[in-house]
Amino acid sequence: MHIETPVVVVGGGPVGLALALDLGWRGIECLLVDELERDGYWTHPRANLINSRTMEFCRRWGVAARVKEVGTPPGYPHTAMYVTAMRGHLIARIERPAHGGDKKIAFTPEPPQRCNQIWFDPVLRERAESFSSVSLRYRWRFDSFAQDDAGVTSRVTDLAKGEQHTIRSSYLAACCGGRSPIRRLLGIDASEGEVLGAPMSVYFRTKNLWDYHDKGKGVLHFIVGPTGVWATLNSLNGGELWRVTLHGGTKAHGAPESVDHRDILTRIVGCEFPYELISISPWVRRKLVTAAYRHGRVFLAGDCAHQNTPTGGYGMNTGMGDAVDLGWKLAAAVQGWAGEKLLDSYDAERRPVALRNVEEATRNFQLRSFAAIPELVEATPAGEAARKRLGDEILRNTARELLSDGIAMGYRYDDSPIVCPDGSPAPASSVTEYMQTSFPGARAPHAWLADGRSTLDLFGRSFVMLRLGKDAQETGFVEDAAKRRGVPLEVVTLAEPGAMVLYKRKLVLVRPDGHAAWRGDAVPLDADALIARVTGAL
Ligand SMILES: Cc1cc2nc3c(=O)[nH]c(=O)nc-3n(C[C@H](O)[C@H](O)[C@H](O)COP(=O)(O)OP(=O)(O)OC[C@H]3O[C@@H](n4cnc5c(N)ncnc54)[C@H](O)[C@@H]3O)c2cc1C
Repeated sequence: MHIETPVVVVGGGPVGLALALDLGWRGIECLLVDELERDGYWTHPRANLINSRTMEFCRRWGVAARVKEVGTPPGYPHTAMYVTAMRGHLIARIERPAHGGDKKIAFTPEPPQRCNQIWFDPVLRERAESFSSVSLRYRWRFDSFAQDDAGVTSRVTDLAKGEQHTIRSSYLAACCGGRSPIRRLLGIDASEGEVLGAPMSVYFRTKNLWDYHDKGKGVLHFIVGPTGVWATLNSLNGGELWRVTLHGGTKAHGAPESVDHRDILTRIVGCEFPYELISISPWVRRKLVTAAYRHGRVFLAGDCAHQNTPTGGYGMNTGMGDAVDLGWKLAAAVQGWAGEKLLDSYDAERRPVALRNVEEATRNFQLRSFAAIPELVEATPAGEAARKRLGDEILRNTARELLSDGIAMGYRYDDSPIVCPDGSPAPASSVTEYMQTSFPGARAPHAWLADGRSTLDLFGRSFVMLRLGKDAQETGFVEDAAKRRGVPLEVVTLAEPGAMVLYKRKLVLVRPDGHAAWRGDAVPLDADALIARVTGAL
């Protein structure tokens, strides 16, 4: 069979599904292939944390409510603890009142939500396949590709039928994870990055685990021994499902069957308790950012482009940002209004974000080991003093991995070739703090509108020129310039004082991904140059 489609997406993990969904939401035809049978379902748990920015994307796509429904219930606390065992000594407790539930956070309409990929990926899949322009093909293995000036020819195998097909597309998106065949075919980064660890993950079911100890309910429990954290106990759904990660060193544990899970779980909790083992799975912690995200008509996204240790929960969320950045640019290229440089800006915008997040995740991980403190587990005054010292140190230095709003929301595309600097000094960047700003390149701020919507609900389908206040200039020249270039642009006038305070200028041009592209108090003299710049045509 020979198939023609504008975009082929390889990989039906969260990033590939998000890209297919975003393209479908924009009415763009695409075909996604995944070699596995799982139809978007994972059987062993991976990412849990859906950060606020990813939740905002879900809101745009109309699935935020569904993610909350299938995720951890709103009343369950997102508390993290460092303990010697669940029935042992408490070293540090980190509350995260702004995570989960319906709590109001000033800077976003969507608090972070816990929803493991076991449930999250199927939500993306269901939404992606609700668009008639999206085709999902499972048990289709991507084998090879060749690209020329006009397009990409991919070879795939339908594993169920044993048939081979060719697909001709304008673009190929490699969302095929850490073991990407496309990276190999491109001959890039043969090293697969730096190995930071070879952990083992134990997935089990038990009722009311919190009844067996005195620490109360929480989601993340770091189990600390004299030389650091040796295991993490993770609540997956605020109920019966749990995962333990055994940290280990950089050498692989033995075979999953050889893991003495009863002994390990007993040591973690501090007593025996009834449980049902579901699965045990080894995995590898890596540190990697690939050298280039664009290779002609081929684009790398998600774990295929970058990998980090999950300390902090940045991996999948960084990949979701890739999908959103790439989605509108591919749509623009397919619809014919992308300038020549628009697709290049994907690498310029997303690679620096990955470099920052991968470094931060590595830092978080390295802080989990420390020089031996033998008395740490002792019930003695010396042990008490050691735990107090370590607890203070954790709160000062380590807790930031759990409170990283700046990583989730604060990434900006200041240096992007398609963003127009306005000459004002760049706001400070922080891992933990996030301050809303309309600074060009930043995520455009959230403010509630009089009709109950968020400003974020205005963005997505097209460029949006916000006119803030009644005396904002008419934007006819910009509208004309956009029309001449076939660029979708909507003009919205806002009179809400809250929005005017946050946006700080009378005019702000917001891109389809919700980032500010330009701001000013008056329409620029050369409106055509503005539209050309933000669409990569300059
Ligand atoms: C234990 C663990 C915990 C984690 N916790 C978090 C967390 O809390 N927060 C977070 O943000 N991230 C976390 N992560 C990372 C997260 O799981 C990954 O970043 C995420 O799954 C990457 O998504 P992806 O779509 O890029 O790749 P993947 O999910 O790996 O999907 C790639 C897909 O490509 C398919 N594929 C590969 N080769 C081919 C081929 N030749 N043909 C067809 N299909 C192919 C595969 O079958 C697969 O379905 C965690 C990871 C692990 C292992």
